[in-house]
Amino acid sequence: MAPSINAGFAGFTANMAAELSASLPGRVFSSGTDEYEISRKVWNGTIDQYPALVVHATESADIVVAVKFASKHGLGIAIKATGHGALKAADADAILIDTSRMKHISVDPASRTATLGPGVTAVEFLDAIQKYQLIGPTPVSQEVGMTGYTLAGGYGDLPRVTALSSDNLVSADIVLTDGRQLTASETENRDLFWALRGGGGNFRDRYIHDAQAAQGAGKALGRGVEL
Ligand SMILES: Cc1cc2nc3c(=O)[nH]c(=O)nc-3n(C[C@H](O)[C@H](O)[C@H](O)COP(=O)(O)OP(=O)(O)OC[C@H]3O[C@@H](n4cnc5c(N)ncnc54)[C@H](O)[C@@H]3O)c2cc1C
Repeated sequence: MAPSINAGFAGFTANMAAELSASLPGRVFSSGTDEYEISRKVWNGTIDQYPALVVHATESADIVVAVKFASKHGLGIAIKATGHGALKAADADAILIDTSRMKHISVDPASRTATLGPGVTAVEFLDAIQKYQLIGPTPVSQEVGMTGYTLAGGYGDLPRVTALSSDNLVSADIVLTDGRQLTASETENRDLFWALRGGGGNFRDRYIHDAQAAQGAGKALGRGVEL
């Protein structure tokens, strides 16, 4: 079935949608589908957005493909994990990458660090670390996404214990707009690492924070509370 095209973006063609769908079968959704409708909705009900396409990313490689496609065709990129932080509508010429399915979590109790996929919410993060009697820098609302929250700074409900979530970020995997992947940390790409800690993420035309990316939430996980 030919994809239905977002009427808000005259430059977008069915061929472009078909090209991306061929690279990401089953993960690309156009206006008129239930998947598109669900992904375009955000927490702030006044934002009524109609991106050109929605991509349901399931792994880093999906993000790389979507970003390269957007660059090739001069499209924008918008990112949604939970939708709690959307401040404006995604442009009609943007690909909306929905990372909510990327829920990988691993916890290393010895170093008191966790690696999070970009779709992990606060409650999922807490569930994972509490098994080790650890706490972390989590927001008041447990439905908020850990990646967006950390990129925005992240002032949690135990700030005197955990500090800001961004203070705890150890490293992040990044996808550049040309599809290259790199790591940002205190020792690698330090300028990006600085920008990640409070810059809000998805710096337009610069890079996006990747998937298995958001390798976040670090040492203060570490202050294990004795329960
Ligand atoms: C009900 C509610 C309670 C809140 N409570 C707190 C709180 O206690 N403390 C606090 O500090 N903040 C709080 N916030 C603010 C919240 O931390 C921010 O709105 C944050 O941006 C939400 O991130 P998200 O991933 O859930 O939302 P999303 O809307 O999915 O993402 C928000 C933005 O983060 C960026 N982003 C997300 N994922 C990626 C990625 N993988 N790569 C690049 N960029 C990305 C994008 O710019 C995106 O637009 C709250 C917000 C709400 C609505």
